[in-house]
Amino acid sequence: MSDTSPFADSDAAGFDPAIARAAILARIAAAAKGAGRLDLPTLVAVSKTQAWDRIAPVLTAGQRVFGENRVQEAQTRWQDRREDYPDLELRLIGPLQTNKVKQAIALFDVIETVDRDSLAQALAEAGAKGARLPRLYVQVNTGEEPQKAGVHPAQADAFIARARSEYGLLVEGLMCIPPAGEAAGPHFALLAAIARRNDLFSLSMGMSADFETAVRFGATSVRVGSAVFGAR
Ligand SMILES: *Cc1c(COP(=O)(O)O)cnc(C)c1O
Repeated sequence: MSDTSPFADSDAAGFDPAIARAAILARIAAAAKGAGRLDLPTLVAVSKTQAWDRIAPVLTAGQRVFGENRVQEAQTRWQDRREDYPDLELRLIGPLQTNKVKQAIALFDVIETVDRDSLAQALAEAGAKGARLPRLYVQVNTGEEPQKAGVHPAQADAFIARARSEYGLLVEGLMCIPPAGEAAGPHFALLAAIARRNDLFSLSMGMSADFETAVRFGATSVRVGSAVFGAR
């Protein structure tokens, strides 16, 4: 592995996730400053599949925003620990089935993967029944990959409009996962453009390999897993 790989040292003896987190935070701040930004993007530490002994030091170091891919796994990892960390913020960054909406809104503070009418409707119905809805992001499939979740970019404006007017949802921002092996910049630029014309100001984009690029393109939160916790 090259020295510039975000995964370097991940499996080396003595790898310390708290130190890795501090380094990532410094790089986020430097990238933001370098881009002339006055705000500081949020680090979402993606804890999916990680052992608790890698997560605990990061919590102790002050990290409070975590990303998880699966409802069940996140419940197992976090449900009983929530009360110890009242300022914890859990974000669902993986696909959500409509039959798991009830569990998801009970656990997560943010759902970043709203991507279809059936899900928007299920969220709206839960809200109408009195559930407190999490903050919501619409996922956009910027690379138009058939196997990937997310709204097609050409349909994003209409979907955001329906989420707001038809389902009465408050959309906070947009999220994307660029295709593997492609330059991420154009995908981040596309997501930012869709956000701008829809009056959205929160952008969840960038992972271990490209979070600094995402910050330059306006990410307000970056989702970093292996570069914080080590290889999965
Ligand atoms: C796993 C995952 C991440 C983190 O990926 P790393 O490359 O480990 O940083 C970010 N976003 C989503 C949606 C993921 O599923």
